[in-house]
Amino acid sequence: MVQAKQTVKKIMLASDSPGHVELLLGNEAIARGAIEAGIQVATAYPGTPSTEILEGLSRVAKEAEIYTQWSTNEKVATEVAMSASMSGLRAITSMKAEGLNVALDFVVVINMTETGKGGLVIVVCDDPEAWSSGNEQDSRWEARSHEIPLLEPSSITEAKEMTKWAFELSEELRITVLVRSVTRISHSSAPVTFGEIKHLNRQAYFDPKQYFSPIPVTKNHIRRKQKMDKVRGMFETSPFNWYSGPDSPELTIVCSGTGWLYSLDAIEKLEIENSIGILKLGTTWPLPTEFIRSYLEPDSNILVVEEVDSFLETHLKEYLYTDWSNGALPKIYGKGTGHISSVGELNPNIVIGGITKLMGLDYRPREAEYEEKAAKYTKNTVQYRELAFCPGCPHRASFWTVKNVLRLDDTDSFVNGDIGCYVLDRLSSGTMMMRTHYVMGSGSGLASGFGKLNRFGFDQPVVAVCGDSTFFHAAMPAIVNAIHHSSNATFIVLDNGATAMTGFQPHPGTSTGAMGETVSPIDMEKVCRSFGCPVEVADPFNGEETEQKLSKLIEQEGTKVMIMRRKCGLLAFRQDGPQYRVWVEEEECLGEECGCNRYCNRIFKCPALVWNEMAAKAYIDEAICTGCGFCVDICPRGAINRSSLVT
Ligand code: SF4
Ligand code: SF4
Repeated sequence: MVQAKQTVKKIMLASDSPGHVELLLGNEAIARGAIEAGIQVATAYPGTPSTEILEGLSRVAKEAEIYTQWSTNEKVATEVAMSASMSGLRAITSMKAEGLNVALDFVVVINMTETGKGGLVIVVCDDPEAWSSGNEQDSRWEARSHEIPLLEPSSITEAKEMTKWAFELSEELRITVLVRSVTRISHSSAPVTFGEIKHLNRQAYFDPKQYFSPIPVTKNHIRRKQKMDKVRGMFETSPFNWYSGPDSPELTIVCSGTGWLYSLDAIEKLEIENSIGILKLGTTWPLPTEFIRSYLEPDSNILVVEEVDSFLETHLKEYLYTDWSNGALPKIYGKGTGHISSVGELNPNIVIGGITKLMGLDYRPREAEYEEKAAKYTKNTVQYRELAFCPGCPHRASFWTVKNVLRLDDTDSFVNGDIGCYVLDRLSSGTMMMRTHYVMGSGSGLASGFGKLNRFGFDQPVVAVCGDSTFFHAAMPAIVNAIHHSSNATFIVLDNGATAMTGFQPHPGTSTGAMGETVSPIDMEKVCRSFGCPVEVADPFNGEETEQKLSKLIEQEGTKVMIMRRKCGLLAFRQDGPQYRVWVEEEECLGEECGCNRYCNRIFKCPALVWNEMAAKAYIDEAICTGCGFCVDICPRGAINRSSLVT
């Protein structure tokens, strides 16, 4: 049934059927907007909450006659999209907020030149509350810093329409446009009405008379500013900005993105529709100042509602104080004044809090008695579930081995971590080896630095882990740096054959492209050997051999690479089925007497290794055990057994 629904959605996303209504994720709506705009090229590097844009486009690439690519990283993705634009094709690239940082080196100069004749749109999905990110970055500042027109959809329908229009703007002014979504737009669903698809069917051609370079810089910078003035003029009359509410409101909410929906909700709950106005902005850089001004009076009270930083609030103040110098000025409240929380994700209650504080209203969403009861029942009935490596995950085995090797005779050892499933070592596993964890590739960069500190008395073993996709994305330059500077460090690549954390997208080490086509896999082992450093490859499920190889490498001076290779547990289970039937011999199990009070259950922590309270013994939950068989090796008593299911 799920499969059937997916197939319908797959066909519909590329269907030329104006007027058709389809339930779409925000990210799918962005993909549909790009299809309606007639894109021919789409690129991305996977990252939550942006992944479904390219996934949606890749699902229909053949029907929509577009080329899609999971690029090595976000900078390359942007450059590949720009090459299409330079050749006259419309192109889109998408990324999460932290991915924009990787792309920035190119993005900062992108509007110092023209785009090509083909429109170029960058979609960045911010993650307020950092549900799946390392920070609550607000990407809108990049639009201001690097003079990129910025659009912020407030609904899923608008996400489609804005993406589509962004290409018109881009081509009209030969300028790259940034569309900023947030998790709640990207990952919510709503009915979306399809429009017509532009079948541009352009032929790609780079006119050699064109020249793309930011040099001469000052001349190009002036031209960039002139273009942004034109953009401002277009934004002044944009249908993505509007006012709703009474003619003379007591309070005017200025908002963008999800702030609009939360404000509507708050006003409805407070039943103050007759006293509050909403100035909803969809084009947020450059600000459509004349449009904004037409709805404000010198004695207006303004509450700014926006996701993450006080971006609108700051620029509104800047504009009013510089351009509206006729004495009295509106009062502006928001994150800067503490009326709206300046960390975390917005919600209607936060907006209600800001409004009630400003207007002196008393509002309680529920009776106190209800809240007490809800807290009591939640506490007693909702089971706490830890984050955990999946059953059968090779990373659990890898960290087990790393811990065994490092902790054998050294208590000050630690692992420099990275971004990927393996961050769960820090968040949930009993090994807890990971002590640094920032952005993609930074674990390897830090290790290349720690490995040079021996001259200052640093004598701890230096180890970094990264995933296979991260190896190609950002870790490789750090490893090269370590080798080049004779850094004393061991780099472990946890190669599970996929970008597993974001949903198994391909990467340069795999043999399938975004559209399912066959591509040339890059042999990571050969790459590392070509660096000229010692390289070992081991199967993390072969604990003894992996331990020996890792110990030997760590003892060696200089830079070393260890590839721990084993297919992701979920992929292996889906593709190959279980390898073993695994069970605990109850009579053999030491129960509470076991090391660390249940070694397998509290330290190894495979979710399938559970505790039988009645018998006070460990047992294996066959419903979730993937039959990887690794836990057999970790029981000090030999109480865990396995029998092969592979004939
Ligand atoms: S590690 Fe072995 S002995 Fe210890 S609790 Fe688990 S099954 Fe029992
Ligand atoms: S075999 Fe052991 S380690 Fe593997 S999934 Fe089952 S319980 Fe977990």
